[in-house]
Amino acid sequence: MIRWSGKRLIVNILLFGIFLLAAYYLWFPPIWACQTVRFRGFSKIAPAVYASDQINTQRRDSLLHFIGQARKRVSGFWGEQRGEATIIFCSNREEYQKFCLLYEGAGCSLGTPTGSWIVLNPDGLNVDVIAHEMCHDELFARLGWMKAKSSLPQWFDEGVALMVDYRYSDPDLTRRYNGYVQEWDILTNHGKTAPHLQDIVTLNGFFGTQRGQADASRTAQSYVTSGKEVSRWLGLVGQAGLQRLVQQVRDGYEFDQAYREIEQYHRPKL
Ligand SMILES: [Zn+2]
Repeated sequence: MIRWSGKRLIVNILLFGIFLLAAYYLWFPPIWACQTVRFRGFSKIAPAVYASDQINTQRRDSLLHFIGQARKRVSGFWGEQRGEATIIFCSNREEYQKFCLLYEGAGCSLGTPTGSWIVLNPDGLNVDVIAHEMCHDELFARLGWMKAKSSLPQWFDEGVALMVDYRYSDPDLTRRYNGYVQEWDILTNHGKTAPHLQDIVTLNGFFGTQRGQADASRTAQSYVTSGKEVSRWLGLVGQAGLQRLVQQVRDGYEFDQAYREIEQYHRPKL
């Protein structure tokens, strides 16, 4: 049973209120667009997969092939795939902008109480991007809507997604952390410009967003910092630690505390 103190309950109610306001002002147009995708020049090409009518058959076939590969990658990482997001594949940036909150990147995922969607633009036609977005959806499916939105720092959400996205580092688990250390070293000038984890807890902090525009160099630094941290942590705690963390956050534990305690528990005893 979860026991919330009065203070914590108020914080959760406040967070919920803030989320509802944000959802109302920011998310409604994209969510509405996702929900009505079939009336917007998109066709269903497989269960829960829509492609723009501008996309030719060859690219549709590639999309289905990459989705199959991404599903295998996500199941391999998590044990099984529980996320059931509908995938929307756009033919250009204009279409993509109708469905996504952030216009940058090759894909985005939207999780709501009424459904979840993964939206891809033409650059998202590859297994790395699709698996990455599926991994966000997986955390969402495992934690539930409210916990996924309010309890996870952005660096962790992105760091876990990077574990199935090999654009920055090695598919081989034993080399992944070192791969991130090298990338991080290059992109952050030996760590001098690296963000601290506490600076990349929020979406805006992570993407360095100012006046609605993400900062590309800050974003890249945030990604490698997250990948480095999560691959380090996962190297110590393994899948068992990750599953435990998800369970604890679901049960109402603070993320930071659970993350630290699980690491402590798995740390080799001297
Ligand atoms: Zn991501």
